[in-house]
Amino acid sequence: ETRSDAAMSELVPEPRPKPAVPMKPVSINSNLLGYVGIDTIIEQMRKKTMKTGFDFNIMVVGQSGLGKSTLVNTLFKSQVSRKAASWNREEKIPKTVEIKAIGHVIEEGGVKMKLTVIDTPGFGDQINNENCWEPIEKYINEQYEKFLKEEVNIARKKRIPDTRVHCCLYFISPTGHSLRPLDLEFMKHLSKVVNIIPVIAKADTMTLEEKSEFKQRVRKELEVNGIEFYPQKEFDEDLEDKTENDKIRQESMPFAVVGSDKEYQVNGKRVLGRKTPWGIIEGNSTHFLGELPADQTHLQDLKEVTHNIHYETYRAKRLNDNGGLPPGEGLLGTVLPPVPATPCPSAE
Ligand code: GDP
Ligand code: MG
Repeated sequence: ETRSDAAMSELVPEPRPKPAVPMKPVSINSNLLGYVGIDTIIEQMRKKTMKTGFDFNIMVVGQSGLGKSTLVNTLFKSQVSRKAASWNREEKIPKTVEIKAIGHVIEEGGVKMKLTVIDTPGFGDQINNENCWEPIEKYINEQYEKFLKEEVNIARKKRIPDTRVHCCLYFISPTGHSLRPLDLEFMKHLSKVVNIIPVIAKADTMTLEEKSEFKQRVRKELEVNGIEFYPQKEFDEDLEDKTENDKIRQESMPFAVVGSDKEYQVNGKRVLGRKTPWGIIEGNSTHFLGELPADQTHLQDLKEVTHNIHYETYRAKRLNDNGGLPPGEGLLGTVLPPVPATPCPSAE
């Protein structure tokens, strides 16, 4: 018996037939898609991705011991294991002590994807937790700053290396109770600079009923506190998007995650999962990444909102006030005319 489908399908909703690489949105409406042939468009996307590759940067944040590092390993191992089946099962995950980015190139069906996961130390573990989101916010802003420096550079690179955080998984303890004030504070601050995806950690420890009740409770608390989370309204490009996103916002969020570094046999297949009284629960892995290319739309949306909303906010602020630096220092010292924003790099 496995509940893997339920566990896995939750993290990323069904792929939808929407081109990930924005072509002129005005020229295609969903009725016409059938006519053009969605297969053709997906094939075009796939070719494009094969040529340029696809980079995605994801950050994990939350209290110590909620399974952040394990989930990172689940994401990578399940991918890596398909090629090289051997890894060291005994290896213990050390306690995370610093913000650390780990990147892996994942290849699937000839499509390359570079996934970078930014693991962070336990958040809110200190005695004095005042402003403890600051190092994380600083890291996020530093990546925007790096990108901006490249962008305003006269001899700018054709493809600016993108280390910006495209989404931040915020791990919520599966208590069934209210969120900690610290969780709310963090999400309130960080939702202004990054796409926040709240997730219920160790979801295998809850029954389906408990999970569904807890989800409802968390949604309510986030709403009452005015915290915006994925998919924010910026993801609603048309009515179809909105209908689909409303469903995610009102029913699926926060996604439930299960991390594991143990393998089990399920229906003759080796999967990473956790053993529970009600069966093996498969760890969220490929479905989070999405089976390329169809599910890439969700990742692409996250990248676009990062570029068009979060980065743009940072950039506008930075170019306006020059970061509070005296004239001649900082960015504006090196730039004369206003610099037009570059399009989202992966969407060229
Ligand atoms: P981190 O401090 O958030 O990075 O947490 P770790 O990844 O180091 O995991 C802490 C402990 O929780 C380890 O003993 C893991 O085996 C366990 N763990 C991780 N993920 C899960 C999960 O999804 N469910 C359950 N039940 N335990 C988990
Ligand atoms: Mg850790």
